Parts: sequence; structure tokens; C-alpha cells
Amino acid sequence: MSEKGLTTISLKKINRSKVYQYIYKAKASAKLKIVQDLQMGLSTVSQNLNLLEEEGLIERNDYFESTGGRKAHAIRIVPDFKISIGIGILKKMFHITIVDLYGNALCMDTIPLPYENTDAYYEQVASEIKNFISNQQYDADKILGISIATQGITSPDHSTVTYGTIMGNTGMNVADFSSRLPWPCHLEHDSKSAASLELWNHPELDSAVVFLLNRNLGGAVIANHQIHQGSSMHSGTIEHMCINPDGPLCYCGNRGCLETYCSANSLEQAAGLPIKEFFPLLREGASPQVMQIWEDYLNHLAFAMKNLNLIIDAPIIISGYLAPYFTEEDIAKLAERINSSTPFTVDPTQILVGTHGQYTPAIGAALYYIEQFIQSV
Ligand SMILES: [Zn+2]
Repeated sequence: MSEKGLTTISLKKINRSKVYQYIYKAKASAKLKIVQDLQMGLSTVSQNLNLLEEEGLIERNDYFESTGGRKAHAIRIVPDFKISIGIGILKKMFHITIVDLYGNALCMDTIPLPYENTDAYYEQVASEIKNFISNQQYDADKILGISIATQGITSPDHSTVTYGTIMGNTGMNVADFSSRLPWPCHLEHDSKSAASLELWNHPELDSAVVFLLNRNLGGAVIANHQIHQGSSMHSGTIEHMCINPDGPLCYCGNRGCLETYCSANSLEQAAGLPIKEFFPLLREGASPQVMQIWEDYLNHLAFAMKNLNLIIDAPIIISGYLAPYFTEEDIAKLAERINSSTPFTVDPTQILVGTHGQYTPAIGAALYYIEQFIQSV
């Protein structure tokens, strides 16, 4: 092909991409607005809109409210033109979700299935995933891929779990899933997946520290608008920060890790109650013992937040299973305790709370394929 031919093709592709990205960001737009904002010719925009519509990527179903003259079509992307499946694997269950191109979770479910590093387990997961998809009646070709958030640190190429002490899944390989499913698969550390969702929901953030308050504690550092992985992929593992050298034994073999004070498991253990019963009882305010356990929990969390804020001067995000249980009053208490012993105060508005609870890692993992797709159009 001649150089000129190639240039024309890439120019066409760039224009198509520009128009699609513009509509994606605008959520709804009109043809003349696109022409104006992209400073593209009317015929080029029309041509690209036709092309994108024929491919099924965009739709023009309804109209903007008109202030006179001809009504303008509202142009939108088709949010479920492609979808991504997010999986969150835990010791006793796995979460599954379908996410659209805007990162919305279209459906979510929890499947009880104890983890084992066996073929039977992976077979079962694969068949549950296929069932879930067919029950939701999505065509197989809409699915970009299956992205799996697992407890445990992965290798830099995301192929293998290199540290999986909680679940005993060291050595878990992405091929354990991809060899049993007709879609591409991706493996991620669940703390990083959760951070991906928080970053997606707060695109304005340059940096942040994420506290993943799941059954086991996790964490992540966001810097320069990216999740910091680290030299050996363990950046942000705040769960093993020591807050008391004589404290309880952690699964990592050391004593007094934040895990042993601030994970949902440790809270349940301290209370002798499941989380679902603990919080209603706490909010009733009738049990001084339950209230004291929560005060201690907040003290330990504030202690860790204070120290981390000295290293990463950025907003703090509370994410995961326990996040939806936090009240404004809890946040105010955290800020007050952080600020009582630091030279640099943290404003309560700098403590953000995630909204997707236990599904955060699964939804965050699914964004891997969504981001890839949006960039590829
Ligand atoms: Zn530990």
C-alpha cells in the first residue's frame, strides 16, 4: 500500500476514535455540538456517526429538548455493546458481576464455593461463570473477557499468584481459568482491583491511599493517577504494617499487623458477632461493649491513616466490604483522631467512602477489559 493510502486509513481511524471518545465522555451529544467541539467538518462527523451507528457502537434514539427549529438527535454510545465479567475470589465464595462500558455493574451475585487449588474447583468456577452469563442472556461475543480479582500478590505479568498465604493459592495461574473458558482471562491482586474502581469513580484524584476493609484487610497506593505496583508488586500492602509488635499473630507469621485489628474478620472476632449483626446493634447504641469495640477499631484505623498520610499526602479512600457501614460521624471521628497527633491535619472531606461494598474488587477487576476496549475504538 502507498504511504498516502496508509495515512488516509490511519486518519480515518483517528477521526472515528475521536468522535467515539467524545460521545463516550459527553454521555449524550448532538451532531452540531460534535462538529463544533472537535472542529471537524460536518461531512466527516456525519460519515463517522453513520459508521459507528452501523457497527452498533452508538445509537440515536431520542431527541434533545428543542428551543425552536429542528429537534437534534441525542447521540449516545451503546453502553452494553461490549461487557466485561468481573470475578472476586475469596476463601469460601466468589463474587461475579457484569460491567458495561461505563463501568456500571449490570448484575452481581455471590456464589458459595470454598476455594481449593484443584481442577475440580476451577471446573466448577468456569461452569458457574458460563451459567451466570447465559442466565443473563448476553451473547458470548459481547464479552470482552473475564477479569479475576484474587487475594494474593501476582507476578508483574499477572499470570501467577506469587504470595497467596490467606487462601493457599500461591501458584494459581491465569491458565487455570482461561483453559476452561472461551474468553480471554486476566488475573489481578484484589486490593489493586478495588483501587481501580475507586480511581474510576474519582477521576479527579491524582493520588490516594485506599483502605480495602474486606474480610481480610488490603490496601493500595494511587500515585500520578495510577495504581502503584512496586518493585515486587506489593506496594500498598498496608495490612502487614505493624501497629503493635506484641499484638496478635497475623497469617503472615508476624505480630500486630493492621490485619489483626482492622480487617472485617478481626472485627467479627472481637465482637463475637457476624458483621451483619454487629452494625445494627452498634447503631442501636444500647450495648456499651459493642460501642467500645467500634471505638477501638476506629482508633487503630486512624492510627494507620495518620502514619500513611505522612508518607502519601493525599485523600484516603475507605473501600470494600465495611465501607457502606461507615457513617459521617465515623468519618468525623477518624479525622479527629488523626488530627489529634499529627502536625499536618487531614480535613474530613479528604476521607472518601466507596459505595460498592463487597463487590468492589470484582467490579474493579472488570474495568481492566473496559478500559482496554474504550482505548481501542
Ligand atoms: Zn501480617
